[in-house]
Amino acid sequence: MRSKKISRRKFVYTSGITAVGIPLLSTLTSCASSKENGKTMNKEKLGIAIVGLGGYGGGQLAPALLKTDHCYLAGIVTGTPSKIPTFKEKYNIPDSNIYNYQNFSSIKDNPDIDIIYIALPNHLHKEYTIKAFEANKHVICEKPMAITVEDSKAMMAAAKKAKKLFSIGYRLHYDAYNLEAVRLVKEKVYGEVKSIETFFSIMPNKGEWRLNKKIAGGGPLMDVGIYCMQAVCYLLGTEPVAVTAQTYPVTDKEKFLDIEETIDFQMEMPGGIVGKCRSSYSEAVSFLQVNCEKGWFRLEPAYYYGGIKFSSSDGRKFETPPFSQQARQMDAMTLAIRKNQASKTPGEMGLRDMKIIQAIYEAMYTGKRVVIKK
Ligand code: NAD
Repeated sequence: MRSKKISRRKFVYTSGITAVGIPLLSTLTSCASSKENGKTMNKEKLGIAIVGLGGYGGGQLAPALLKTDHCYLAGIVTGTPSKIPTFKEKYNIPDSNIYNYQNFSSIKDNPDIDIIYIALPNHLHKEYTIKAFEANKHVICEKPMAITVEDSKAMMAAAKKAKKLFSIGYRLHYDAYNLEAVRLVKEKVYGEVKSIETFFSIMPNKGEWRLNKKIAGGGPLMDVGIYCMQAVCYLLGTEPVAVTAQTYPVTDKEKFLDIEETIDFQMEMPGGIVGKCRSSYSEAVSFLQVNCEKGWFRLEPAYYYGGIKFSSSDGRKFETPPFSQQARQMDAMTLAIRKNQASKTPGEMGLRDMKIIQAIYEAMYTGKRVVIKK
């Protein structure tokens, strides 16, 4: 049974794909001032410093930065000195660009670092995003943006004050398969969408911070259910009107002390379409099925770093050579800075999602239908 488990580390596959057309919200975080942008324009590549060299920061983002055209790994921020020699050597990082959590704020004076990428556990996103903006850098923060709506708002205020670009690490907006799904819906290739069904579940091990509500902010919904929620929004190019949600008694009271083990949630979208979503920490599933008037199409797996597969009711084929989603994501975000444009996946989107997540949890705890406040 154990071998069937998909832990976070195992779902860390390689390869990937390019950008999903989700409509940007109206009020976008402003980017670099033109003076600042002039300075960065002179650089061949912009420098990124990753904060947190764990499974994602060290295992996915850093290697992806060897494949990027517009940015590179210029610095690291780590609390684990034993990690430094490997990163220094592999990525050719000078000592002057290596920071710890105590001297992090002095990164302000380092002209090699243009962008700070926060890849820390969720409860630290707020603190380090705000510190990074105070250091006058552009920021990419991993999903979920924070652990509460209030924290997300504080992060947005810091971005606004700094006048820097703020992006959320929603890599699937840069994935060719998810982009193809968006195109099929937008161009009504299978006619009008009737419903969407999507599951994303992984099986973390006991002791992982993901199981600790104070650190993670919630259970599988915060960690992987967020991808299902996002997919329903980017496929339809809109936001839910209301949500309902259900959870179940847990199978392991020690492991799931104060978080949901499994959640089913329904997103009522404008026009009566329902996004039927499920996320669990005791299952290993990743799929997205879009049911339309004239047929259906499906991604399975839908949300991994690579190996995404397309199938459909009419046998249509869709396949691309493998590539890094994260490299495309970071290149696109760097180009947005260069062009003084808003990110495709801005802080506003992260805040929107935190509000939807909050509504889904309210629905789960109360059993009531919760209308999404604008
Ligand atoms: P991880 O546990 O593997 O790594 C976290 C890193 O933060 C470690 O290097 C750890 O030493 C460091 N850290 C610093 N202070 C810490 C503290 N007080 N407590 C715990 N760790 C501390 O986690 P991860 O899987 O790399 O996740 C990091 C972030 O990236 C999370 O927000 C997660 O949601 C996100 N993530 C995103 C994706 C994606 O596909 N976009 C995938 C995995 C993780």
